[in-house]
Amino acid sequence: VKKKGSQYARQSAPVNQAGVLGAGIMGGGIAYQSASKGTPILMKDIKEEAIELGLKEARKLFGKQLERGKLSSEQVAERLGNIRPTLSYGDFGHVDLVVEAVVENPKVKGAVLAEVEEYVSEDAILTSNTSTISITRLAENLKRPENFCGMHFFNPVHRMPLVEVIRGEKTSDAAVAATVAYARQMGKTPIVVNDCPGFLVNRVLFPYFGGFSQLITAGADFQRVDKVMEKFGWPMGPAYLLDVVGMDTAVHAGDVMAEGFPERMGSLGGGGDDGRPQSAIQVMFDNDRLGQKNAKGFYAYE
Ligand code: NAD
Repeated sequence: VKKKGSQYARQSAPVNQAGVLGAGIMGGGIAYQSASKGTPILMKDIKEEAIELGLKEARKLFGKQLERGKLSSEQVAERLGNIRPTLSYGDFGHVDLVVEAVVENPKVKGAVLAEVEEYVSEDAILTSNTSTISITRLAENLKRPENFCGMHFFNPVHRMPLVEVIRGEKTSDAAVAATVAYARQMGKTPIVVNDCPGFLVNRVLFPYFGGFSQLITAGADFQRVDKVMEKFGWPMGPAYLLDVVGMDTAVHAGDVMAEGFPERMGSLGGGGDDGRPQSAIQVMFDNDRLGQKNAKGFYAYE
């Protein structure tokens, strides 16, 4: 941990126009949060259906605010209007800060970041919501790596206060300051952390998922493990948390962690080829039990 976000917060102009790449669980949540706190945001995806889902989720969350009397219908309409869905980079020339939130794959992210860099202005800040991939590594394809850093939100975005701001080897103070400022604008608590696979939170969390996976592979009952962890005092157990995160994201992020810390982390995915039992999380993924995103994971959802 380097410096508390607050030490950067006063050093940057506000973000007047944001952009997010990916309208999935995280991209949709980031768009909602930005819009709800008054910062207009372009939400870009490559699939029309994803944009529809992202907007549906935002409408649902604003609807709840309306039901609870926290917002009037005019306020809901105004805030929803802050989200501009798009399938193209057309208006990205006016964006001050972009959050990339596409799949957790270094090659895909590298290509998407290099692509958006062609459309934004020279002083725009690019950030990645990667869960695990090194920011220095993601910056390799960029022309302006000094304008790039990590901006790692947690799921669900509207409820989780923490945002990790990750400084890569070439990240400038100005990029960190702008990202910290945007996190604060969104009502979040930014913390500036060093760059390594998994940063701070997932460096702690993924070995926990790995331990859970081994326990399940050895025959433990996942519901029992969840109940025990709840009694231990955690708000939810590992199986439920994995359903929230998504098995695909957990497997991809687990692979990055295992590559980064081979001596300490068994991969959450893989296994099987060398005679070891397959990881429980990999088995879930292979059987399309992705979690809440497709309504079936460890638990079943409506
Ligand atoms: P998701 O699968 O729900 O969404 C990814 C979206 O990206 C999809 O809608 C897909 O169509 C879109 N996409 C793919 N390629 C694209 C491109 N070239 N341009 C624009 N959109 C594109 O995934 P998610 O759970 O939202 O995760 C996104 C990122 O956030 C990952 O890096 C993940 O590690 C990170 N993250 C996830 C969680 C979590 O709990 N799910 C938490 C923190 C961070």
